[in-house]
Amino acid sequence: MSRRKEDHLTCSFCGRGKSEVVMLISGLSGHICEQCVEQAQLIIEQETRERHDKKNHHRFSFNKATKPAAIKDFLDQYIVGQDDAKKVLSVAVYNHYKRLNQPKHEDVEIEKSNILLVGPTGTGKTLLARSIAKYLNVPFTIVDATVFTEAGYVGEDVESILSRLLQVCDYDVQSAERGIVYIDEIDKIARKSDNPSITRDVSGEGVQQSLLKLLEGSEVMVPPQGGRKHPEQKLITVNTNNILFICGGAFPGIEQIIGRRVQTQMVGFRQEEVVSVTEKENLYRYVSPQDLKSFGLIPELIGRVPALTYLEPLDRPTLRMILTKPKNALVKQFTKLFEMEGIKLHFSEDVLDFIVEKAFEFKLGARGLRSICESIMTDAMFELPSQTGLSEFTITLDYALSKLTKDKLKTLKAAS
Ligand code: ADP
Repeated sequence: MSRRKEDHLTCSFCGRGKSEVVMLISGLSGHICEQCVEQAQLIIEQETRERHDKKNHHRFSFNKATKPAAIKDFLDQYIVGQDDAKKVLSVAVYNHYKRLNQPKHEDVEIEKSNILLVGPTGTGKTLLARSIAKYLNVPFTIVDATVFTEAGYVGEDVESILSRLLQVCDYDVQSAERGIVYIDEIDKIARKSDNPSITRDVSGEGVQQSLLKLLEGSEVMVPPQGGRKHPEQKLITVNTNNILFICGGAFPGIEQIIGRRVQTQMVGFRQEEVVSVTEKENLYRYVSPQDLKSFGLIPELIGRVPALTYLEPLDRPTLRMILTKPKNALVKQFTKLFEMEGIKLHFSEDVLDFIVEKAFEFKLGARGLRSICESIMTDAMFELPSQTGLSEFTITLDYALSKLTKDKLKTLKAAS
């Protein structure tokens, strides 16, 4: 029996015959089945989304309405306290981007305002830099100054900072050239000693020297994959003129340097006045370029990070607020996690005080808040999702005490 001509038709994409599919749509010189249409639709959607994301990713929208106060308002949502640092940062970023929008060849050229954040570890330096990048929607990367050495020695070249920036924006050089780099632990590349010794200071002063050209703005040849420049690697030219560098460090011991300077400058004041200043807990607030020089940064580097500011050590009330107030505060995060299980989570007030007290007592800082919370919450997070019919759960002080044993705290301290 001869089959109808139509029965021989197949999908030109997947090859299935007419009998194997629900429908075949015919075109000028071929056919497509409904499954391939669906497949094609998915591909189109995905491709369109990716293109759209790429286009909008890092599209920087700094307009006339963006004022320093608006930048600070944004930072306030994520970072508790640190008002002086937020102000300096907001102004520096504002001026930086005003500079970017300045028409070329104007008589007054605004200079770049890289930023230096000085403050104890865990007080929000990285969080500030990260939040600013989020606000501006520009590529952002964090690098650790300790991995760098002077060219030709074991370690990384400073150019690899830019490799990382390129990597986060898919090697879109134009985007990278408007990005923000946070250089952490800048204090670790302080000059090792005042004495120009026989052995070269390749991870200290040597790195500071090599950072200069990046910070001031110049064309830098960057190995795309990072690492050392291999002759076979094709280098990418990146202009760092408009890249904002935010440097941060704890500068341990700088308080004594500041204290000594403040005291000597106060000769002529009554003794009680001198003591009232130097005994203040936070000497960081008086930090000056002179102190950074005494600490071991070279004057050229200090000159390239003109916006200098400090972060305060975190006291108990601040830690308490960090726990509950910021947009993505820890308590809010845990509550959300449980909400997704259909469970309403409560923390009793004394538990929050207890967490703060332990973080303070064991000198765990804001980072410690998370580890303490995790220790208290792990069992609940493990067990509650499998319990049926549970709609509410309260973390009481007794519960917290039973989960956070002394040994656990000691382990947290050791790990911090
Ligand atoms: P640093 O860079 O100064 O060592 P981080 O910015 O990495 O410190 O802070 C560590 C963590 O502590 C952050 O992830 C954040 O959750 C929290 N934190 C620290 N300081 C603050 C603050 N002032 N406001 C809100 N969270 C903070």
